[in-house]
Amino acid sequence: MKKILITQEEVAKRCEELGKELTAVYKNKQPLVVGVLKGAIPFMADIVRYMDTYIELDFMDVSSYGDATVSSGEVKIVKDLDTNVKGRDMLIVEDIIDSGRTLKYLVDLFKYRQANSVAIVTLLDKPKGRVVGIEADYIGFDVPNEFVVGYGLDFAERYRNLPYVGVLKSSIYETKV
Ligand code: 5GP
Ligand code: MG
Ligand code: MG
Repeated sequence: MKKILITQEEVAKRCEELGKELTAVYKNKQPLVVGVLKGAIPFMADIVRYMDTYIELDFMDVSSYGDATVSSGEVKIVKDLDTNVKGRDMLIVEDIIDSGRTLKYLVDLFKYRQANSVAIVTLLDKPKGRVVGIEADYIGFDVPNEFVVGYGLDFAERYRNLPYVGVLKSSIYETKV
């Protein structure tokens, strides 16, 4: 690891804060909390444990093509929701917003499917990467415009299990087998 940007302790503290904030927001609403696979898994698991209200969970897998560190911009559904979202209050849980294309696609999709409300909570925000106009309602941390891994975020499917967020040494990208 070249450097650690956010420690395990900082992530844990922020998840507790966000979970408690979301408890107040969603009291009496029974939101459908949608995790965007696979990167949102650790973050989602940690924040929902602090949401002290009725919630339901579902998952969606969307991807841009390939393992590249720069997104192609084209979004496709790999796994759709199991739940009918018409009339539901939805909270999308993401690992990171970069260009904003993934979340724009999901928000538009859920609105088209007549959700009552659609909000976004993201662990990380890279404001400098934004290509389409979309912002999260709740943000864990801002990060610089660098490729980060850990706590759900991968490089070619590795490093999702790290308990912190960091930046890899550039030699790892060059020697990946
Ligand atoms: P978007 O560009 O659509 O906002 O981001 C799409 C997806 O690209 C994110 O959900 C995430 O999976 C991936 N992504 C964007 N920036 C990074 C990054 O710095 N590190 C990793 N591991 N994935 C990223
Ligand atoms: Mg993601
Ligand atoms: Mg990825």
